[in-house]
Order: sequence, then structure tokens, then C-alpha cells
Amino acid sequence: PSKEEILSLRQTHHGHVFHYYRMPVMITDGHMQYLFDEERRRYLDLFGGIVTVSVGHCHPEIVKAGESQMRKLMHTTHVYLNPEMALYAKELTDKFPGHLKSAFFVNSGSEANELAILLARVYTGNYDMIALRNSYHGASYLTMGAGGMHTWKYNLPMGFGFHHAANPNIYRSVVPKREAADFYAADVMDIIKGATPGRLAGYIHETIQGVGGAVMYPDGYLKMVYEMVREHGGLCIADEVQTGFGRTGTHYWGFETQGVTPDIVTMAKGIGNGFPLGAVVTTPEIMEAVSRKLFFNTFGGNPVASAIGRAVLRVIDDENLQAHSANVGTFLKTQLTKLKEKYEIIGDVRGRGLMVGIEFVKDRETKEPAKTETMELHEMLKNRGVLVGKGGLYGNVFRIKPPMCVTVEDMEYFVYHLEQAIRQLTGLS
Ligand code: PMP
Repeated sequence: PSKEEILSLRQTHHGHVFHYYRMPVMITDGHMQYLFDEERRRYLDLFGGIVTVSVGHCHPEIVKAGESQMRKLMHTTHVYLNPEMALYAKELTDKFPGHLKSAFFVNSGSEANELAILLARVYTGNYDMIALRNSYHGASYLTMGAGGMHTWKYNLPMGFGFHHAANPNIYRSVVPKREAADFYAADVMDIIKGATPGRLAGYIHETIQGVGGAVMYPDGYLKMVYEMVREHGGLCIADEVQTGFGRTGTHYWGFETQGVTPDIVTMAKGIGNGFPLGAVVTTPEIMEAVSRKLFFNTFGGNPVASAIGRAVLRVIDDENLQAHSANVGTFLKTQLTKLKEKYEIIGDVRGRGLMVGIEFVKDRETKEPAKTETMELHEMLKNRGVLVGKGGLYGNVFRIKPPMCVTVEDMEYFVYHLEQAIRQLTGLS
């Protein structure tokens, strides 16, 4: 079928749930950091299937691990013992500080966060949770209430005991940078004292907001909040669905960049390089909260998912992808910062490792979002063979989160085309 026929099938059978600007590309093949359309046109993939293809499209080691496990055994459920899941739990928890030794496997980030919230509530005996405005934690009904993005889009009750604290976005901070950590931590304290006195179950956060537009928090913010939350009986949950597995470059986990150790960590996306997989890692004591109660997941950590998850961990280590993320990410940020000096439309360049955001504004003083221009640039880059993500509260942020095998040369290619597109858009060429 042609691309037009596929688009028509999509519109007939999916409605308009998946929205896009102009004509979407059709992807038929992938190899490492590149995607190919139906005419074999190559695209540099800087979005990685939304930060999911962590080590490369159809990476041969991942394909090999999945294929050979599929020939042996595809599924058993948790009712029986299977070597893959237990070995995987050991290898995954080895990546965490000593007391975080218990893992439970699910299939997605939403499911992982559902379990984390359940654990916090059952373990503490409390119900109230704190999350951040502009955060994203999933698309199940509970996690939509947790995230600070969905609640205002649906005209439905989505409270579920969640209180949303001010978003500690350094770029759009309402106070000077040096006061930002105290200021935004104080907002969490106000909620603890005002809205949840004595009833706090936990606090859930991303370390760099992903869907929210690569939002970075002030240094020291999470440390202060963790202390407050724990002092008032709550657990701290780090959502590492986007920031985990070496992506931030300097650290394996995003939370480490803020010098904190969570009580519960949730993972998905990059954990399976595109295969549906998610996990919750916590202490054995906290995991006990759901033990011997009715808690079950049919597919979570099935033998194929576990074999693939193990291969992803191996590839990240064998190919030194964490250090590589740091190097390529630093190169990219340096190049983008040079572009920012030349073009007013770039309001901010931020991020860590290979999780980078470029925020486009109409005016650097007012920071008025350049939403239409962002969509145009996104389209122009697509036509030049580069795929980037787009997001942020105002839809004016490019999200760069490629498979971690991307090279410095790929980034040179991207920055060159971004500059050309900006010049074309702003009438400079
Ligand atoms: N947490 C974060 C930080 C995410 O970015 C996402 C997905 N965008 C989720 C949770 C939900 O993951 P999933 O779509 O696999 O349910």
C-alpha cells in the first residue's frame, strides 16, 4: 500500500487520536540512529521513538537476544520460575545503590508509576501524593492525575489525592536562579503543611522533565524536597522513564545528578530499546507492601522482555554508551550555544548528555513562546532528513533524545541543517 493509503487507513481506523502537522513520514526500516521511509530515504533519528530506542534501532545484539529467546520460550507468567527474569532482576538492581534490591517488571511507564504510587500508599498507610505541574507520568487514569499536564486537558475529575507543586523550571523561574531551589522547595513544604498534614504518602518526580520540554531544576532542589518529604513520612519516587540508563552521560540514573537516592525508582522506554518493558525498583521492605496481596502482571518481564532487557544493559556497558552520551551531548550543547549567540529565536539550550532541549521564543526578554515557528522548523528539518521531538507546555521546545550510538558527525549534520532552517525561516537566506 502507498503512503496515502496507509494514512487513509489510519484516519479511518484510529480516528484522530494521533495528531501531526502536515504529512507525517512513513517509517519502514531502522538501523542504529537512522530510520528509512518507503522510498529508502534516510533520516537521522534524534527522537529515538520518544527516548525509547536507547542503543540503536534493530541493534544486532538486541535482535539476537530477542530472537534466540523467542525460539526457546516466549511466555510463562510469574506463576513459574524462569531463569531470565531472576537473572535480569539481579543485573538491573546491581545498577542501583545497595538497598534498592527488589525489582518488579511491567510493560510500560504508566504501569510502573501505578505500582510505585500503590507501594507508597500501602507502605505508608497514607493517601496524599505530591507531583509537579508540567510533569508527565503516564496515560493510565491514575497516572494522568499524577502528571501535571493532563488534568487541565480533560474535563473530568482526576484528583486521586494528587497535589501539584510549582514547576522548578530554571529557565522560566519567577525568582533569580540562586534563590530558585529554596523558592520551589518551599512550595512543596506549603503543600505538606497546608494540604496533606500527617497524610503524606509520597512525592513523585522526573529529574529532567521529558514531555514537559527538557525542563531542568535548580541544583539542590531535589535534596531539599527529599528531606522534607521524608521528615513528614512520605516516600520519594524517581520516574527514570526518560532519564535512566546512562542517557544523562555523567550518571547512570538521572536522580544521581541531583545527589539524591529515591525510595522507589520507575523505568520504561529505553530499558527495552523499543520492546515493551517497564520496571519498579525499590527496597525489599517497601516491596513487601504488595507481597502476598493480589498483585500480578501477566506479561511483565516475560522471558523475551527479560532477555532483551539484559542485552540492553550489556550493550550500554560494552559500548561505553554512558560516556559516549556525555561526550556527544557536550559537543551538541556547545554547538547549539554558538547558534544561540547568533539567532535570537533560540531562547534556551539546556539538558544533560543526550537529553537536550532547545526552546524557541519570539522575544528573549518576555520569553514569549515561538510555537508556530517551532512547528515550521520541525517540518523543515524533517524535509532535510532530520527527525527531532517537539514538546513543552507551549509546544516550543525541540527535544533531542537520540539512540545513544549517535555520533559527533551526526550532530554536526543536525546543527548545520538547523542553522540553515533558522536562516530560511527568519528570512536571512
Ligand atoms: N513517565 C515519563 C517520564 C514518560 O515520559 C512517560 C511516557 N512519555 C511515561 C512515564 C509513561 O510511559 P508509557 O507511555 O510507557 O506508559
